[in-house]
Amino acid sequence: MKKISIVVPCYNEEEAIPLFYEAFLKETSGMPVEFEFVFVDDGSRDATLPAMEALHERDERVHYISFSRNFGKESAMFAGMENTTGDYVAIMDVDLQDPPALLKDMLHGIEEEGYDCVASRRVTRSGEPKIRSFFARAFYRLINKISQTEIVDGARDFRLMTRQMVDSILSLREVSRFSKGLFSWVGFKTKWLEYENIERVAGETKWSFWKLLLYSIDGIIGFSTAPLAIASIAGVVFCIAAFLMLLFFFFKTILFGDPVAGFPATICIVLLLGGIQLFCIGILGQYLSKTYLETKNRPIYIIRRKA
Ligand code: UDP
Ligand code: MG
Repeated sequence: MKKISIVVPCYNEEEAIPLFYEAFLKETSGMPVEFEFVFVDDGSRDATLPAMEALHERDERVHYISFSRNFGKESAMFAGMENTTGDYVAIMDVDLQDPPALLKDMLHGIEEEGYDCVASRRVTRSGEPKIRSFFARAFYRLINKISQTEIVDGARDFRLMTRQMVDSILSLREVSRFSKGLFSWVGFKTKWLEYENIERVAGETKWSFWKLLLYSIDGIIGFSTAPLAIASIAGVVFCIAAFLMLLFFFFKTILFGDPVAGFPATICIVLLLGGIQLFCIGILGQYLSKTYLETKNRPIYIIRRKA
């Protein structure tokens, strides 16, 4: 019998963990596979770890990893995947926004249809603030224009993968991880299952608008160097404009003389150019800082307790 490892990242999810476990077993009963659970406690401040320990006591298929602090969902998924032993690995949120019942179709996609990965994609964003949906859509449009790697709109981390694909993802050891990009970067044949957005069962979302914004910048910097090219192009455009203006003022002065005027315009131009320069240096700085962080080669997570 094949074994499926379920990786579940959890951050302050004491209420959701038992609900997830019960619902999971109910919805997947009858599947002809063995399960293994790897719960990852991402430095929670509530009783998430005791909830995991309780499950571990009850069910020997349940394992857990507890981080020394909050490292973020990306690190939690990585740690979880690194500690799985199954033939297939699935990543699931603990809030039941990823319906366990879909696992049957996912398994079918891999075993019968020959895919390496079956992933899920939500086609609606109901229950989400309008403004957030707007920015999310804009982000996907932008990143797909400037990145070679396809980033699928609405793709969730919920997916079932073969051991081969999981091992390839684990071989990418970068510290700023943007999974939506990494999954697609490693390639392999992926089938997409679509479903409607589901609200979480308990607790609340861990993603503030600000966190999402920073995460999207990680995505852009991790999977595109277009902003660097944009900075260079802006430089060239402004050089050409400056040269044309130089010619214009040179001949204007020769023909009509040079009464001193245009002081406000000068200030505006100085400010504009200063702004553009700082902006471009900022872009450089973003890439430099990511490079700096990566060269330190720090571990992606640190374990405090594990079972
Ligand atoms: N999560 C985590 N570390 C974090 C933030 C979130 O492990 O720093 C987990 C969280 O417990 C949940 C999953 O990642 O199982 C998805 O988080 P959430 O439901 O808050 O995100 P949303 O579904 O709103 O995008
Ligand atoms: Mg959620």
